Amino acid sequence: MARRAVRGSDAHMNVDEFASLWSRPDDRPPSLTIANGRWFDGRGFDAVTMHTVDGRLSRRRPRTIDGVVDLAGMYVVPPFGEAHNHNLHSRDDGAEAIRRYLAAGVFYVLIANNLPTLARGLRPMLNTPTSVDAVFAHGGLTASDGHPIALYERLAEQALLSGFTRSQLADEAYYVIDSVDELVRKWPRIMSRTPDLIKTFLLFSEERDQALQHHVGLDPAILPEIVRMAHQAGLRVAVHVETAADFHYAVCAGVNLVAHLPGHSYRAGYEPATYEISPADARCAGDRGVIVVTTGRLARRIKDPDRVARALDVQRHNIRLLLSSGVRVVVGSDDYSDTSLGEANHLHALDVLDNLALLRMWCCDTPRAIFPDRRIGELADGYEASFLALAGNPLDAWHHVTSIRLRVKQGRLLNVARARASFAPTASRCKTTV
Ligand SMILES: [Zn+2]
Repeated sequence: MARRAVRGSDAHMNVDEFASLWSRPDDRPPSLTIANGRWFDGRGFDAVTMHTVDGRLSRRRPRTIDGVVDLAGMYVVPPFGEAHNHNLHSRDDGAEAIRRYLAAGVFYVLIANNLPTLARGLRPMLNTPTSVDAVFAHGGLTASDGHPIALYERLAEQALLSGFTRSQLADEAYYVIDSVDELVRKWPRIMSRTPDLIKTFLLFSEERDQALQHHVGLDPAILPEIVRMAHQAGLRVAVHVETAADFHYAVCAGVNLVAHLPGHSYRAGYEPATYEISPADARCAGDRGVIVVTTGRLARRIKDPDRVARALDVQRHNIRLLLSSGVRVVVGSDDYSDTSLGEANHLHALDVLDNLALLRMWCCDTPRAIFPDRRIGELADGYEASFLALAGNPLDAWHHVTSIRLRVKQGRLLNVARARASFAPTASRCKTTV
């Protein structure tokens, strides 16, 4: 469908007319006036007229416009982010995940461990104006017998890794790093897979030398060297943590992202102190600009309701402490069958953040945590013209985050139904939590 020149003036269209006129993904993004919207400015909603020019937002009306979209009082927010998942995994189930993300208004995704060979097949479907933008950690760095080796081996045995067998997983889904020498030896291989960031694993670091260890992660003494080499290569480092001690080692090592909030899990027989971050570590994380990803809803999978309640109390404690210490906390679910919507709803139910703080976290801080060099997460002059129009005000009623009437990415209308058809999704075949 050609762009109708007849619209090339100040003719107003409602959202449906806009959708029927500008649904071609390969088109040059139109220059539009977006009228009668209330735009999120980080504090509230401001009734202003905005314009889109070459895929960017502009406060100033361009000399020529292709049309005027009438938002009829809708609430405009930046698209949401998902800072911890694994479900952009392979061509087999990527299409369904992309459709789910776009439907939920989640445009930016961080894949925190994956098989790079499978991701290669998925790449053409991502980072386009009509799809999701994603970064990939590829195989994470762990110790002998460390997490997530057993998990990936189980998935391979269940034939859930698109043909990969147990014996093909080392140096693909994970790297075993038991010493600095081994790190130096394997580093060229790690770099050859061109990860967007480096994922590492710490688990119960305080019990590493004891027989009672449940899971194994890296020797924390190696982590500073991993961080040094990654930073030298221009890559950020994310780390899986379980306990407050893991958090301590992660912050001291200089990591950029902590991929879980301590309290996302809660083992039987432990006191809250195992999981409660210390004020000194929180301050240090704030000073160093560490970003912490929540993944709190994982605790709801614990069978024992008492332990769930303890885990949620720990999460409240840690979130309050981190935010009051100036740490950037962002939304990530680590839920293969979901987007970050379920996690955002979990955080809302935790009742430690008001709607404004939570909205800012999800649509401003999370996208910027995933793509720190892009002008996203804000609806200001010169920023990418990517936004969602909501039917109601999420500051008044949180559920309005799902009342999405319009999805625009880099000045182009996103059509979720069309994305579904063009990607020809297959059923989801893999479920992992890494
Ligand atoms: Zn994970």
